[in-house]
Amino acid sequence: MVGRVIPVEPFDLVVFGGTGDLAQRKLLPALYHRMCAGQILPGTRIIAIGRRDIDVDGYRALAAGALQEFASEDRKGDFLAMLDYVKMDVTGGEGWPTLASRLGDDGRVRAFYLSVAPHLFVPVSERLVAAGCRTPGTRLVVEKPQGSDFVSAETLNRTLASLFGERQVYRIDHYLGKETVQNLMALRFANALFEPIWNARHVDHVQITVAERIGVEGRGAYYDQTGALRDMVQNHLLQLLCLIAMEPPATFNADAVRDEKLKVLLSLAPLENPADVVCGRYLGGDGMGSYLEDVGNPESRSESFVALRAEIANWRWNGTPFYLRTGKRLRARMSEIAVVFKDAPHSIFPPAAGAMAPNVLAIRLQPDEGITLGLTIKEPGPGGMRLIGTPLDMTFADTLERQGLTMPDAYERLVLDVIRGDQTLFMRRDEVEAAWRWIDRAVAIAGNTPGPPHAYESLSAGPEEALMLVHRDGRRWRPIMARASDEQ
Ligand code: NAP
Repeated sequence: MVGRVIPVEPFDLVVFGGTGDLAQRKLLPALYHRMCAGQILPGTRIIAIGRRDIDVDGYRALAAGALQEFASEDRKGDFLAMLDYVKMDVTGGEGWPTLASRLGDDGRVRAFYLSVAPHLFVPVSERLVAAGCRTPGTRLVVEKPQGSDFVSAETLNRTLASLFGERQVYRIDHYLGKETVQNLMALRFANALFEPIWNARHVDHVQITVAERIGVEGRGAYYDQTGALRDMVQNHLLQLLCLIAMEPPATFNADAVRDEKLKVLLSLAPLENPADVVCGRYLGGDGMGSYLEDVGNPESRSESFVALRAEIANWRWNGTPFYLRTGKRLRARMSEIAVVFKDAPHSIFPPAAGAMAPNVLAIRLQPDEGITLGLTIKEPGPGGMRLIGTPLDMTFADTLERQGLTMPDAYERLVLDVIRGDQTLFMRRDEVEAAWRWIDRAVAIAGNTPGPPHAYESLSAGPEEALMLVHRDGRRWRPIMARASDEQ
């Protein structure tokens, strides 16, 4: 059971790409859970679109398979009854009148979820408008990637703007739907404790790490055209940076929050120093393929790892570096934001007591979403004053379980926000474009760096050169470590 459940009126959701991986693995389970929680009501229509030659019963069977792991729930029948299927090639003219007729004209909220390859975003949007499917209550959900650089993102946004109002467009970054990411805002703006020290006077630096243990797996061809900078930093890492660095919004509404995030993106100092961008790619071994083998492209120059040193040129953050790193085939699956505070100004303890570790507020996004505050305390026992670092550790799942609550998946939150018309956790057009402008510079620096990306051992912490990125500032990366609960 999840906290407070406010049901939404029955709605229509059209999932373009309803037979695909994202729909089957994430969207359908998310919708199913929200129905089981009583938030999605009978009468809701979920219409899947695909080219696969199946009828509605075939689609329901496919969906039942996707929900297999939730078989213990006994509401599958109710959910499957909400599903419909329209077979069509979205690049053609057929099928649109059928879709339009299935939607009906009952004035309810209507959402079109573009869970198809990015080159289909515009053709689908144009055709659904031409087919008369757009109503005032229509929402368009756009998956990532939203462009591959500033120019393509701006072109996509301009075209969408000719078809839909900005208030109708929901650009997904599923990281923003994660409970911990939202908690970041609660932590910062619902507690008086942190705000006075949330600035360059007290924060030494910030580290944002999104490490994956897996390689490119089946996504080799796509990934090789994209690389870590575009695939991860432009959206997920920069969004996290915005939430950490932004000023308190005047209110918790979509535009107030997004205005503040945009200011952070616009304050990012343009990358100038080539040493501030370190790219890497993993080697093979122990039965694992190398990056080049995994993508099947011996000529590839793409990066499976990147570390960056960013600066935010504003009053709050001047002089506090933000180190970002993300990569595949690293030592452990770990996503966290670490706010590392400056040392206490003066030690009253004798040298024999040991060093005082800086306080670190670590916000874990996965696994085990939660928060750790690193404190220095006295080592228990007799024998004088000895200092040790110790974490105050709160794993949300444990805390919430004690209250009978569970953590919903990001997509559960985001899909319901679309239906409710709340854009707070979705990226606005100007945010996406500002992020691309900054990333384009990093991509250019990486492209101008002679030689291929730096090699790193599989299941390591990345290339040596990434260590140098922080060492040269007299700092260290936090270790990439598995949590005991992680099954990987
Ligand atoms: P996928 O497994 O390749 O599925 C693609 C879907 O598009 C299939 O349902 C396919 O239907 C449909 N499709 C392709 N061409 C079509 C056409 N001409 N007409 C009608 N339907 C067509 O892709 P995915 O992994 O689900 O990803 C979908 C989108 O989500 C992409 O933009 C991706 O970047 C984004 N995304 C995915 C994930 C993820 O975890 N998968 C995560 C983040 C973002 P048929 O096979 O029936 O033709």
